[in-house]
Amino acid sequence: MTQTIPTGNRDDEIQIYDLHKSFGQIEVLKGISTIVRRGEVVCVIGPSGSGKSTLLRCVNLLEQPTQGRIFILNDEITDLDADVDEIRTKMGMVFQQFNLFPHLTAMQNCTIAPIRVLKKDKAEAEGNAQANLDKVGLGDRGDAYPAQLSGGQQQRVAIARALSMDPELMLFDEPTSALDPELVGDVLSVMRDLAKSGMTMMVVTHEMAFAREVADRVIFMDGGVIVEEGPPDEVIGNPQHERTRTFLRRVL
Ligand code: ADP
Ligand code: MG
Repeated sequence: MTQTIPTGNRDDEIQIYDLHKSFGQIEVLKGISTIVRRGEVVCVIGPSGSGKSTLLRCVNLLEQPTQGRIFILNDEITDLDADVDEIRTKMGMVFQQFNLFPHLTAMQNCTIAPIRVLKKDKAEAEGNAQANLDKVGLGDRGDAYPAQLSGGQQQRVAIARALSMDPELMLFDEPTSALDPELVGDVLSVMRDLAKSGMTMMVVTHEMAFAREVADRVIFMDGGVIVEEGPPDEVIGNPQHERTRTFLRRVL
């Protein structure tokens, strides 16, 4: 893909053109191009060190690309004059480490940004937060502090917190990798529901069964490039590239 201008279609929610990222001398992203459409669930898989986290972090400009352009709902976040904070409010991000505020309750974790950043009034923010805590199955734990919750519950609060900013799309970076195995299922089930509700999602994950079931498209990355992408039944079920087959043999 050589195109470097946005499509102009608001249903093309994330547009990435020829994205490169180097840390010092090391180039970890070597020309990534892809478009994520409204309501699409894209799972990004690949070996450790292949650049998956760097890719997601470039999408919301937590990392500054070395080269290439990224458009979020046709606003260019890589434009030097972009209102990055404004564009970021359109994207919820959930990390491996939940990063909840430890001194705030689950409810307060979900209301602080809507009140401070979106200038919502407290009652409205709390109503919205309660709906999102209900959605992740923690409607009765709003008063709990993070330390009183299991890892899986904390991650579900982190999802509710991201949803409370009313994002247009959600980015997940290995949201279940830090969890004890018995806690993974509840988090994946919340993500499955979110996908069914029509949320646009870009999900870095090692959960192949989840990717196979929930993804509309799977991107396999290795060495900073997209080696192959397509429907899960093709990329996971019938990979065309040896690098993909080698990776899948190790994780399946
Ligand atoms: P993945 O998420 O696929 O495991 P990452 O995107 O985290 O891969 O990392 C890709 C490569 O970039 C790795 O070699 C990693 O060491 C390197 N890297 C990531 N972040 C930084 C950084 N802030 N400074 C230097 N190197 C980094
Ligand atoms: Mg990573």
